[in-house]
Amino acid sequence: MRQVVLHTAGDVRVEDRPDPKIIDPTDAIIRLTATCICGSDLWPYRGIEPADHQVMGHEYVGIVEEIGDQVKNVKVGDFVVGSFVISDNTCEICQAGFQSKCVHAEFVAQTIGTQSEKARIPHADGTLVATPGQPDPELVPSLLAASDVLGTGWYAAVAAEAGPGKTVAVVGDGAVGLMAILAAKQLGAERIIAMSRHPQRQELARFYGATDIVEERGDEGVARIKELTGGLGAHSVVEAVGTQESFMQAVGATRGGGHLGYVGVNYDVTIPGIELFFAGIHTLGGPAPVRRFLPDLIRRIWDREIDPGKVFDLTLPLEQAAEGYKAMDERRATKVLLTL
Ligand SMILES: [Zn+2]
Repeated sequence: MRQVVLHTAGDVRVEDRPDPKIIDPTDAIIRLTATCICGSDLWPYRGIEPADHQVMGHEYVGIVEEIGDQVKNVKVGDFVVGSFVISDNTCEICQAGFQSKCVHAEFVAQTIGTQSEKARIPHADGTLVATPGQPDPELVPSLLAASDVLGTGWYAAVAAEAGPGKTVAVVGDGAVGLMAILAAKQLGAERIIAMSRHPQRQELARFYGATDIVEERGDEGVARIKELTGGLGAHSVVEAVGTQESFMQAVGATRGGGHLGYVGVNYDVTIPGIELFFAGIHTLGGPAPVRRFLPDLIRRIWDREIDPGKVFDLTLPLEQAAEGYKAMDERRATKVLLTL
């Protein structure tokens, strides 16, 4: 099969690799219908995470080709969506809704890599969710979005307790930030403030439900959010970037007693304890338990209630993955879909 391999920072190649095989009786082999490039794939691409012939990709939809003896919930021929973290969906942590912290958690990006024609998915029963039937082609990008960016944005909005009567501020206008806006709208938020300087992303933010746009950043961004909320700050804030400035902006924009949901992967962020102490806010974040939300998200997409697929603004064949990475690195594309 063909698969994307990151030889070293900046060096993306599509190579012949051995087809995956069933190893454990709880595995499934899927043939991918589509995959994509994530903002977090840029960390190794830019050399911020080390990469040495690393398989890439963790978002996937496809058709089940083969299942192990113990797989019960999906069958050969099913169209499936999976989370970017493998989970059994049965342990105590999974049952509590935190499948990304499952006792059997495994990051698809690190060991499997779904920028490929096929993939072996461990714990298939707990990780994969079948759609009600074969999807129309126009639904595929939205189902693929559910695999990570939509699921992550949704988790962020839930963690921030977005809901009726709430003002939600979203820091970050990448794919996850945009999906958090969609989620906040679906969850019934009254007012949704998108923090963005990018005209096209502002337009998409409004399409997904943003009622206000704030272009200021850092302390000025915080001041602007306060101004828009009678000096209080937002009830709910989503952090979907992962830099020092964006994180502190998110903390500062949250009102006392409010909720911050943080899902931007952050490496060098240092949160001064004293600032967090005096902020007096609830915080919840981390890798999203996408699996918790998948059945609901698939239903909303299937019933055409939401259109998260619009977040993909560049589509390329898998063979041109290197160009996709370049386009995202240079911010010429928000999110790149790779076809097979
Ligand atoms: Zn589990």
